[in-house]
Amino acid sequence: MQLHSTPQSLNCSVCTDEITDVGYLPATVTDGEYKPNPQDAVCNACGFNQVGMMGCAPELTDVVDLDSNSDSDSDSSPNQRPEQTLLHIRMTDDGVSVIDHKQ
Ligand SMILES: [Zn+2]
Repeated sequence: MQLHSTPQSLNCSVCTDEITDVGYLPATVTDGEYKPNPQDAVCNACGFNQVGMMGCAPELTDVVDLDSNSDSDSDSSPNQRPEQTLLHIRMTDDGVSVIDHKQ
């Protein structure tokens, strides 16, 4: 599956550092494509330290919960929710490369 768009740079939503190696990128699955939510990206260090995963991606809710400062309106969508996944990504010269994903 391909990313709907590939941001050229991502900043961690926890520590605000630019993600230059690997990180985590929540995405919505629509029509067989990933539509990433780059504003919720998490760098590898924050994903590892704060979520405590070991080589596998944290649950999407774990990542969202880290960002308790953000507006809480994101859950206000009614019954139908698009499918969400969490991409384990690596930044390359061409943009974002998906290493793995979680559904
Ligand atoms: Zn970070």
